[in-house]
Amino acid sequence: MAGVQYSGVRESRSNRFNDLGTTGKEVEENFKKGCLKRADRSFAQGLQCQQINSMAALMSLEDAVFISHSPQGCIGCTIMAVDMYRVGQAHRGIKNIKNPRIIVTNLDQKSVVFGGEQKLRESVKKAVERYSPKVAFIYSSCASGIIGDDIDAIAGDLQDEYPDTVMVPIHCEGFKSKICASGFDAAFLAINKYILRKKKIEKEAGLVNLFAPTTVSYADQKEMERMLGLLGAKVNYIPFYSSLEKIKRIPAAEASTSICKVFADEFMKTLEEDYDIPYSHTVMPIGIRNTDKWYRGIASVIGKEKEVEEIIAKEHERIEPLVARLRERLQGKRVFICGGTGRSFAAAALIDDFGMELAGLETPTYDADAQVDIEYLNGIHKDFVVDIANMQPFEQVNLVNKLRPDAFIGVPEWAAKLGIPTTHVLDGKRPTMGYDGLLYLGNKIADQLQNPGFNVKLSQHVKLPYRDSWYGEDAFKYIMK
Ligand code: SF4
Repeated sequence: MAGVQYSGVRESRSNRFNDLGTTGKEVEENFKKGCLKRADRSFAQGLQCQQINSMAALMSLEDAVFISHSPQGCIGCTIMAVDMYRVGQAHRGIKNIKNPRIIVTNLDQKSVVFGGEQKLRESVKKAVERYSPKVAFIYSSCASGIIGDDIDAIAGDLQDEYPDTVMVPIHCEGFKSKICASGFDAAFLAINKYILRKKKIEKEAGLVNLFAPTTVSYADQKEMERMLGLLGAKVNYIPFYSSLEKIKRIPAAEASTSICKVFADEFMKTLEEDYDIPYSHTVMPIGIRNTDKWYRGIASVIGKEKEVEEIIAKEHERIEPLVARLRERLQGKRVFICGGTGRSFAAAALIDDFGMELAGLETPTYDADAQVDIEYLNGIHKDFVVDIANMQPFEQVNLVNKLRPDAFIGVPEWAAKLGIPTTHVLDGKRPTMGYDGLLYLGNKIADQLQNPGFNVKLSQHVKLPYRDSWYGEDAFKYIMK
């Protein structure tokens, strides 16, 4: 509803669904008819929680500290984002690689009974005095949210005491949402409230905000910047590997776009409402079709429709012979894809460039955006299985074991142990995007197919934690209809 501020919880938008086992055709029809319902699982493995996404989104900001007001375990998952941050530094030529400054207040039983505000106050003070950061992000968690510790009031008090550090409380209690992308929204809502503060600043000619999550490799950053540079844009690449200064420049931009479909999409709407910044929200630029679509989207917002067509024509001329060579190696191979919402659908479109067939797709959520992609995919692939799941590897191994695809693209951990050739598409270490990224990715998939030895040996020596009987069951038996 107009005028009502977005809560940061993705489920609060209508027509968003998680927890569903279906096929491409079925989900398209049922969404059209309005027959999809929010479901649940009677058994579920751990979900990716929104707190990790709130932390990961900002973890590479310079001169920042991250204080998690939670039990110790909550920050366990940050290890993945820390790894991305460290690798990202190496790729950027940094010799003394740093860890992010993550501090946890260590809420325990006593804090839950008597309150944990004192612990938070002391932790923030120590963090500021020890590191003199420009910005301190204070994250809530399930435990601190349930006991009602007032992180905003504490941030407000400490802001007066430490005026040189911007205090940013972020409400990302894991129980609020089953859609982990809500964590990105919580982080951006806080950035708008505590850093940008709805202040309009002078516009910079040609400046474009390019929002990028932690999983974007340095090679992909350079490719996206190259492509936008060809359109004459100056890029403000945020928040991955940026700084408080770059965040403060956001309102100066003439346009915004995001590399990922579920990253900063809600924030870009807010930027348009609060700072008059138009935006492009299309697809993730993986594969020829999606790269073209992404590129045309931002070009039309900045009035470069003619220029973009000339560039696309040249790029196609350059890459199409190379894609044709890859097609000879990959044609007809069946693929299972698993990634975030943006990447899963983008990768499914990419495999069409190489003449591969989609056997199954796992993605965390389904909504009107996903419907557009599914309609397109149903037009080019025969029937394929769709698993709407935030994590839930038990369903994935069941499906992959039954479908026995020739290749698996996505987070490879489980499929690799089944001996299937795998290619990591959520790879912050290598190129996957834009015109150059698709060639690299195609070659990587083809090389894996040619030499699957490592995964084959792995499957002979590693046992997945499921009983044999599970592989004979319906993968979706725990999804309550
Ligand atoms: S915030 Fe909640 S859901 Fe997230 S890790 Fe902590 S306890 Fe788990």
